[in-house]
Amino acid sequence: MSRATREQRTAEIVRQMTQLREAYAIVSKGVCPQCGAKLHRNLSMSGWWQCDRFGEASFRRAPGPQCNFQIFYDPTPEQHNHIVTENRV
Ligand SMILES: [Zn+2]
Repeated sequence: MSRATREQRTAEIVRQMTQLREAYAIVSKGVCPQCGAKLHRNLSMSGWWQCDRFGEASFRRAPGPQCNFQIFYDPTPEQHNHIVTENRV
């Protein structure tokens, strides 16, 4: 593996972990960072979380103005363990 490729791989892993950490910070609280409503899992796709005010009024779980916040937190078990351990310290 060339040096550039290894550096790119490392950068990619760091970027991915940063995204996962940010997503974990949000989904572990279970609160939408945009409107303060609760978050729920959309079970049609693994790791998909949506605001309770997401979507059309008839589909919304919480009353209030529409909010389009959604986020993916779909780590491997190893990534999840790593993040949870970091947060415990
Ligand atoms: Zn929201």
